Amino acid sequence: MSKPSPQSDTLRWLVCPVCRHGLQLEAAAVLCLGCGRRYPILDGIPVLLEDRALSEAPDHLPDRPK
Ligand SMILES: [Zn+2]
Repeated sequence: MSKPSPQSDTLRWLVCPVCRHGLQLEAAAVLCLGCGRRYPILDGIPVLLEDRALSEAPDHLPDRPK
């Protein structure tokens, strides 16, 4: 709270290009809260391209019940 970062600020207007859900900032990537894809951050800029997603739909996310 006392330490705002440019990256988390940027995330306010970023959404997942696949499912349009919000994104959560991680150490070196942004995680989609909707589909679980993880996008890399290059030079501080999230690369929100489906092709570049590092992973998708990890099964620990409750969003996609079988
Ligand atoms: Zn998504």
